[in-house]
Amino acid sequence: MAKIISGTEIGRAMRAEIAVEAAAFERESGVTPGLAVVLVGEDPASQVYVTMKGKACREIGFHSREIVLPADTVEDELLGVIDGLNADPEIHGMLVQLPLPRHIDSQKVIMRIDPMKDVDGFHPVNVGRLAAGDRDVLAPATPSGIIQMLLRSGYDPKGKRVVVVGRSNIVGKPVALLLLRDAPGGNATVTVAHSRTPDLGSVTRQAEILIAAAGKPQLITREMVSPGVVVIDVGTNRVEDPTRERGFRLVGDVDFAGVKEVAAAISPVPGGVGPMTITMLLANTLQAARQIDAAAAGASS
Ligand code: NAD
Repeated sequence: MAKIISGTEIGRAMRAEIAVEAAAFERESGVTPGLAVVLVGEDPASQVYVTMKGKACREIGFHSREIVLPADTVEDELLGVIDGLNADPEIHGMLVQLPLPRHIDSQKVIMRIDPMKDVDGFHPVNVGRLAAGDRDVLAPATPSGIIQMLLRSGYDPKGKRVVVVGRSNIVGKPVALLLLRDAPGGNATVTVAHSRTPDLGSVTRQAEILIAAAGKPQLITREMVSPGVVVIDVGTNRVEDPTRERGFRLVGDVDFAGVKEVAAAISPVPGGVGPMTITMLLANTLQAARQIDAAAAGASS
């Protein structure tokens, strides 16, 4: 029976560490890390994420700013808000909650964020630095959370055969780049599978560590993994469930019940990668505050 890799527990421990580190940084520098989250429109799921991010910030003593703009906000107005946050000394990290309304060009918005404040790691400068193997880059939160889950549960990817299922810009590709990097949590031999990969099972069975990020409920079955595999399930899929009050439940991309019988370790859904994402956003905000402070000190010396 597999060990359970709990993102809830690892995330809680990490937030306590980040709070201590942030307090020490504040004593040295007088700087309180600050995160701004911009939401355009009233998408209920996005509203929940924005509220959760703000609450997580306040709980560990960061400044938090939540900016909610109406759905018909024009692109120029949003770009103006970003310019304001780029110039704001209280704000070290910012993100614009995606998806944006269709009349706004998301890429243009992401490009406007100062790369030093881009705590989502989506700006092309940061994407490029990650691809180049830079150790100091602000890397996207979900992939960074996956790496921390592996390291902190004793499964260092170094030297292991890792298979990533999914090639999105938000999860699959950046986690593959982190796993390849010559840095802690990296140095793996990485294969990326995707929707056009034939005979997926023949690829996933080679994995010593398997990261499932396809967004397909229970895609990975017991027959598709080798005994002793370590599985991180990123999938967060709603499936109808009339027995639940809300009418659905969340399942991962992995058939948890079947795979846990043969795996050495597996992360659950919910309670796996989900709680790590906000934790890593906080870690990135502290990192951004440190880097901005160091750059300012360098410029004035
Ligand atoms: P996406 O839809 O952008 O990408 C899915 C990827 O999976 C694609 O690259 C596609 O090629 C691949 N894929 C799809 N079907 C496949 C199949 N049958 N076989 C092999 N590969 C297949 O999704 P995403 O944004 O990368 O998210 C993936 C999953 O992770 C979703 O369920 C999403 O909800 C979840 N997610 C969770 C968090 C979190 O914080 N827990 C964060 C981001 C995404």
